[in-house]
Amino acid sequence: MNCPYCGYRDSQVIDSRTSDEGTTVRRRRKCPKCDSRFTTYEKVALSIPVLIKKDGLTRVPYSQEKLRNSMQLALRKRPIKADLLEEAIDRIERNLKLRKEKEISTKEVGKLVMGELRKLDSVAYLRFASVYFNYSKPEDFTEALKKLGDVLEREKSK
Ligand SMILES: [Zn+2]
Repeated sequence: MNCPYCGYRDSQVIDSRTSDEGTTVRRRRKCPKCDSRFTTYEKVALSIPVLIKKDGLTRVPYSQEKLRNSMQLALRKRPIKADLLEEAIDRIERNLKLRKEKEISTKEVGKLVMGELRKLDSVAYLRFASVYFNYSKPEDFTEALKKLGDVLEREKSK
């Protein structure tokens, strides 16, 4: 690793420790030439599969911004802290990164989002579900509400 201060083409590792539950290695380095110290982080590089849209043909790269926007829309004016949303996004991304497939349908991603929203806020869950399932009739909502009620009931009895 080059020294960021003087550009010397080498550095010594003086300390190395694992952080973030073992997913990141943090190294303190020292430049043997100018004696500057700096830190580097090492992470496993896993990528998120390409998304396949509903038509089954169009491929689009995953976008964290789009995911966040759609979840924020569902959570609009709901009393949910921003860091809870970020944690949910983290979990969704981790799940996607661990998949063996190179491509994944947006429907699958939608399922993950619904799973997270269900834990966060039932109103947001229903909002998202209404778009996700293309609800058109009020009966669809009644059905979804009933399902949600069943889910909440099951979770309570756990
Ligand atoms: Zn240096």
